[in-house]
Amino acid sequence: MRVLITEDNVELAEFIQEAISQEGYLSDIASSAVDMKLLLQKASYSAIILDLGLPDIDGIYVLKSLRRNKNMVPVLILTARGGVQDRIKGLNHGADDYLIKPFAIDELIARLKALLRRPNSLSNTNLESGNLLVDVITKAVTVDGNNIVMGKTEVAILEAFMWNAGLTVSKESLENMIYQDGYSVSENALQVAIHRVRKKLSDAGATTKISTIRGVGYLFK
Ligand code: CA
Repeated sequence: MRVLITEDNVELAEFIQEAISQEGYLSDIASSAVDMKLLLQKASYSAIILDLGLPDIDGIYVLKSLRRNKNMVPVLILTARGGVQDRIKGLNHGADDYLIKPFAIDELIARLKALLRRPNSLSNTNLESGNLLVDVITKAVTVDGNNIVMGKTEVAILEAFMWNAGLTVSKESLENMIYQDGYSVSENALQVAIHRVRKKLSDAGATTKISTIRGVGYLFK
């Protein structure tokens, strides 16, 4: 987990960095919008803490341009602008959370953790494997660009496999992942659903498939 702190107040930025590192997260500091852009080209971040009052470009514009470029990294706005309108503007432009200065560092950390826990905290909303693509927001599944109709549980299963592509997944950990996504299925129903997913993928000509590893679990690759 790496967090990008975009904040021109060096003391504050370092204070946040120290607090974040105590939680076990790595972080980089950008002191301007241009700095931030450079860092984003070099590394991938799990979340961005964004000050709106930057010396070069307004933070709202930075946020807008991130989202326009389909960068969906979670953004927590940190600003002295506490007006309701400012807050709405920030959230409308794709911020995930908003914290007004002065703030308690514990609250910042708690909110940051909440952002990092979100399942959709991805820099990209697509999971891709060979010619198979799953949009984790819309839940659309395509193979070679052709839509495949799948039920909610089937998509959840497929996502769980795609997150663990190339790794053996036990039945228990698969069940846990599905459960985390808000679905609960019996062992039998799970097996049936996996069978359906497998068939739909092979019928559609997907280049990746789910194999059964006897006595261990499954392998998606
Ligand atoms: Ca500032």
